[in-house]
Amino acid sequence: MSTMFVPGPVDVDEEVLSAQSQQMVPHRSREFEDLYRQTRAKAQPLFATQATIFIVTSSGTGLQEAAVRNLAKRDVLSCVNGAFSQRWYEVAATNAKQADRLEADWGQPILPEMVADALSKKEYELITLVHNETSTGVQNPVQEIAAVVTEVSPETLISVDAVSSLAGVKIEMDAWGLDMVLTSSQKCLALPPGLALAAVSDRALAYAKNVPARGWYFDLVRLEKHLNKDSTPATPAMSLIYALERQLDRIQDEGLENRFARHSTMAQLVQDWVPANGFEVFARDGYRSNTVTAVKNTLGLDFDSLDAFLISRGMRIANGYGQLRGQTFRIAHMGETQMTDLKKLLAAIEEFVA
Ligand code: PLP
Repeated sequence: MSTMFVPGPVDVDEEVLSAQSQQMVPHRSREFEDLYRQTRAKAQPLFATQATIFIVTSSGTGLQEAAVRNLAKRDVLSCVNGAFSQRWYEVAATNAKQADRLEADWGQPILPEMVADALSKKEYELITLVHNETSTGVQNPVQEIAAVVTEVSPETLISVDAVSSLAGVKIEMDAWGLDMVLTSSQKCLALPPGLALAAVSDRALAYAKNVPARGWYFDLVRLEKHLNKDSTPATPAMSLIYALERQLDRIQDEGLENRFARHSTMAQLVQDWVPANGFEVFARDGYRSNTVTAVKNTLGLDFDSLDAFLISRGMRIANGYGQLRGQTFRIAHMGETQMTDLKKLLAAIEEFVA
């Protein structure tokens, strides 16, 4: 049973938790190399790609940093429509990139025509785009945006943060022409925090070789060199990789399409419940996330009291993020959460409101 309706970290299945208690092996050993190779191969279908999969000991933000350090010498177009895309912009700017912001209001999507317009005015090496803005519950139309990038500026590399969507929503990296797709372990993958995964295209890896000052820890060229020996430059979080391998088997058992359908049904339930109970969905219609819903607090509920009430029932939701604190609250429907869990949560919120 899921109790955490927070957009990460989410509940982790007992079987996956206990996979972490396996004994350590040397990371320069045949055993680890086999584990690492198999786990990377099992992750491939989540990205629908033949590209190179990296599993890195870091949270997702580390791979936001890897993207800007490796895939641009200078010019980055940062699409910003929420807190995590704002963070990625800041990651680019603080890594001394010339990052230009392409902005939409919080709650609104980044639209393909906005991107086409920006790309027609200036050449960019890299565009950064958050698929699922966890702060607002907006899902940006990545496939359509990637199509205009490919049309207007085919040399521009496309990097996508899928931290709160990969493994919950279908993302077809190769078919959509994406160059780097990154995620964290603690959201739709339903693992403990501490790992980040990315798939990186061949052309992006080739580009990285000519980018100076890529740093050391997140240097994709160095990481790739080690990957070719089924290894990592630094000591990996082995326990988490044990858990990841087990969880990837569980995801395969559920079936990816079934998993995506479960998320979409849960989103529908919540997003129908919201207006029926006097609230409003924060994200614009047509661009709503399947993994997290930001609810406008139109009833003026005191979040702390609601939170305390839900905790007394063994459940947790999240306050609004950043500037939306108090004005919204967020219900995540990702990871291992099931419809029955969600129905219990919604009934408890109704009871609190009554
Ligand atoms: N990007 C998105 C869309 C997120 O939701 C988050 C975290 O909530 C991050 C990036 C940062 O991920 P991490 O906390 O794993 O560094």
